[in-house]
Amino acid sequence: MAASSFLSAITRRLEGKVAVITGGASGIGGCTAKLFANHGAKVVIADVQDELGHSVREDIGQSNCTYVHCDVSNEDHIRNVVDKAIDIYGKLDIMFNNAGITGPHKPRIIDNEKADFERVLAINVTGVFLGMKHAARVMVPAKRGTIISTTSIVSIIGGAAAHAYCCSKHAVLGLTRNLAVELGQFGIRVNCVSPYGVSTPLALEYVGNEDQVEMVFNTAATLKGVTLKTEDLANAALFLASDDAKYISGHNLLVDGGFTVNNAALN
Ligand code: NAD
Repeated sequence: MAASSFLSAITRRLEGKVAVITGGASGIGGCTAKLFANHGAKVVIADVQDELGHSVREDIGQSNCTYVHCDVSNEDHIRNVVDKAIDIYGKLDIMFNNAGITGPHKPRIIDNEKADFERVLAINVTGVFLGMKHAARVMVPAKRGTIISTTSIVSIIGGAAAHAYCCSKHAVLGLTRNLAVELGQFGIRVNCVSPYGVSTPLALEYVGNEDQVEMVFNTAATLKGVTLKTEDLANAALFLASDDAKYISGHNLLVDGGFTVNNAALN
C-alpha cells in the first residue's frame, strides 16, 4: 500500500459509514458524533434536547449530519431514527446506544421511589434494548454492522452509584453479551464502553460543579496525573466502530484508568 493511502486509511477510519448516536446532543455522545464525522461517517443524532442536538449538527455540517428528536424509551421514536438513517443515507453501519440518565442520587434503597427506579430502567435499559432491536432489524438482512452501547464502571462493580443506575448498567453489559452471541453468525459485532467519571452535564448533576467533578474523580482514580475527557470515550467508541476492532465482539471496553482493578484496600 502506498504511504499516502495508508495514511488516509488511518486518518479517515469511518469513511462511507453511517452511524446513529443516541444521546448525541451532549457530553460523550456529542463528542463522538463530531469525531465520527471527522473520520468520514454520516451521523444521525438522536436525542430529546432538540436545541443542543441542532447545534451539534451545525458544528458538524448539515450535509454530513441529521438531528432527529427521539426518546429512546419510545419504540416508535427508535424505529423512526433507524428508518431515517436508511432513508437519508441508505444504510446503517454503526448503532451507538449512548443516551442515559442517572436518576436521583439516593444511596439508601429505602429512600428510593419505584417510579424513579423504573424511569432509569426505561431509558438506560429499555432504551438500549430498543436501539439494539431496531439496529438488528436492518443490520441482520444486510449481514453487516456494529452495535456499541455506553455502560459504566458500575456495570461490573457495586457501591459507586445509586441502585437503579448500577442495576441498569449491569443490564447493558448483559444485553451486549447476549446479543454478541446471537448476531455473531451474521458478522455483526456487539460491544460496550464503560467510562469512569468524566465531566459532562450528567456527572455535574450527580456530583456538583465542574471543580467538584474533577476533584472527586481524580481523588479516587488509580491513574494519577491524567484526567478523563469525553474525547477519550469518543476514541474508544471510534476504535470499536472501526475495522481495527474487526475481531472484537461481546467486549466491555473499560476506560477507567485502572479504577476497577484497584484492590489496594486489601493490601
Ligand atoms: P450527558 O448528560 O452529557 O449526555 C446524555 C445525553 O442523553 C443527553 O444529551 C440527554 O439529552 C440524552 N438523553 C437523556 N434521556 C434521553 C432519552 N430518553 N432519549 C434520548 N436521549 C436522552 O451525559 P454523558 O455523561 O455524556 O452520558 C452519556 C452516557 O455515558 C450515559 O449512558 C451515561 O450513563 C454514561 N456514563 C457517563 C459517565 C460520566 O461520568 N459522565 C460515567 C459512566 C457512564
